[in-house]
Amino acid sequence: MTAKIIDGNAVARHVRSEWKKRVEALKAKRVTPGLAVIIVGDNPASRVYVRNKVKACAEVGLHSEVHEFAADVAPDILIRRIRELNQNPAIHGVLVQLPLPAHLEPRRLLGEISVEKDVDGFHLYNVGGLVVGENNVFPPCTPYGVQRILEYENIPIEGQNVVVVGASNIVGKPMALMLMAKDATVSICHIKTRDLAQYTILADILIVAAGCPGLITAPMVKRGAVVIDVGINRLPDGRLAGDVDFESVRKKASHITPVPGGVGPMTVTMLICNTVAAAERSAAKNAESRNPVPA
Ligand code: NAP
Repeated sequence: MTAKIIDGNAVARHVRSEWKKRVEALKAKRVTPGLAVIIVGDNPASRVYVRNKVKACAEVGLHSEVHEFAADVAPDILIRRIRELNQNPAIHGVLVQLPLPAHLEPRRLLGEISVEKDVDGFHLYNVGGLVVGENNVFPPCTPYGVQRILEYENIPIEGQNVVVVGASNIVGKPMALMLMAKDATVSICHIKTRDLAQYTILADILIVAAGCPGLITAPMVKRGAVVIDVGINRLPDGRLAGDVDFESVRKKASHITPVPGGVGPMTVTMLICNTVAAAERSAAKNAESRNPVPA
């Protein structure tokens, strides 16, 4: 068996073209979805991610703006800016690019973002909504992108054994919650998991987000499994690699995502989707306040 290689760029193009129509519908009502990105310091990877977000916004017709701050910025200055953006009607999504310099507490800053504009889905309200299965929360973009890839490829989720390797707040944990909500049986593995292979070998769908190149090898994968590699690692020779040994695992899996060109393009795409959804909700709320439903 040789796996189908899932083309994340093609899925991203498809999703963006769907959402572009929704942007056009909003523009017809004189609403342009707007995203504000706050970036602190000069982490080169963060700068690349922010540039990609701005580019993707322009492609789909969104307004975007980048708010840059020096690495030693005081927390109060950032909080003031977040509050201004919360009040700005031209901005529907606000995000703080992570990681932040050590003197800044991410949880404190993320908690300042208005729940309605939290398009990264990191505010505790949105996290809690995911736990209890609320439909109207903004799902975090990377696991949302993985879910969209599975849907696009018509991969059934209900009743499947899903193993998520990695338990971070931004990928592993929300991924597990989102697939539990779709009635999968989900196991989460992390650095302290004893005998990782004992779990991964049972997975019908194996999702790996550990940041550890070559972690998953062919003997750890069930024949015919769907393997989604979220990891992005820079190898000593400068190449990018995922967490999965792509060449050996592709001979055993039914589907596999490459790195680069798999999950990566979906993350920024889902940020666009969340921002457009935020703009749609804001427009609906404004229309309702202009024409209140009679009591
Ligand atoms: P993170 O915060 O460092 O979390 C990594 C998780 O993996 C932790 O739960 C850690 O366990 C676990 N882990 C690490 N080594 C492991 C091992 N050998 N065996 C089992 N579990 C292990 O990282 P993250 O932000 O979730 O990102 C994970 C990877 O995905 C990174 O390579 C990152 O660059 C990539 N990523 C890609 C995208 C994309 O768009 N494609 C988006 C976000 C992240 P403990 O909790 O016990 O330490």
